[in-house]
Amino acid sequence: MTVEIRGKLYEGKAKIVYATDSPKLIVQFFKDDATAFNAQKRGTIAGKGVVNNRVSARLFELLGRRGVPTHYVATLSEREMLCRRLDIIRIEVIVRNVIAGSLATRTGVEEGGPVVPPVVEFYYKSDELGDPMINDDHVRLLGLATPPELRWIRRTALRVNGVLRPHLARRRLRLVDFKLEFGRAGRRLVLGDEISPDTCRLWDARTRERLDKDRFRRDLGAVEEAYQEVYRRLVGAGGPGR
Ligand code: UDP
Repeated sequence: MTVEIRGKLYEGKAKIVYATDSPKLIVQFFKDDATAFNAQKRGTIAGKGVVNNRVSARLFELLGRRGVPTHYVATLSEREMLCRRLDIIRIEVIVRNVIAGSLATRTGVEEGGPVVPPVVEFYYKSDELGDPMINDDHVRLLGLATPPELRWIRRTALRVNGVLRPHLARRRLRLVDFKLEFGRAGRRLVLGDEISPDTCRLWDARTRERLDKDRFRRDLGAVEEAYQEVYRRLVGAGGPGR
């Protein structure tokens, strides 16, 4: 696939988005920069961009094969992913299978217990407000999505969980929780953004060792090694490609 990369559209904490010569396509460039706690903590994780690009590509391909529409089009290089251009819906959708993170702090329930059935949460994507949790009524009030769109988003987020959880379990990874973002491509809703150790909590199935961004957030050490381990389990030791 040959596309020409044009100007920068947007630079976020972990990715840069570029326009292309096609109005329907953009390129996501994955950086090694990491932030946490609403960008109060900053750092770099060497090789993270490569891991997140490749891992996301694999998971988007899998979801696509299972009938979940995603923005993924092709992998252009180690750090560049060609994607359909979406009008992003300003909601972060979180799915939880295990108590962790803000669910533990909000409820006072100890980390590690199962969440059955999974819990879906919505957060308002707003840096100024610090991404507050919102409910269906707030989504309607703010006009972020229509009630049928939100029902589709919720159903699709649970379907994504249903595909990813066993896939990761076969690779000895427990999918504790994860964040998804959706957007509109014309009138269709499509899964966007990334699915990576930056946006998922992944625990080793046996040892419960954290193999995700919590190692950076909580200064647990061996951050790079954790990302490489996820790469090995999901993409394989063969390096770039299949
Ligand atoms: N998450 C994310 N981006 C955010 C907030 C959360 O990717 O801005 C992911 C996070 O990696 C975890 C899940 O969503 O897998 C749930 O995060 P939580 O609400 O527990 O917040 P945290 O403890 O990360 O502040």
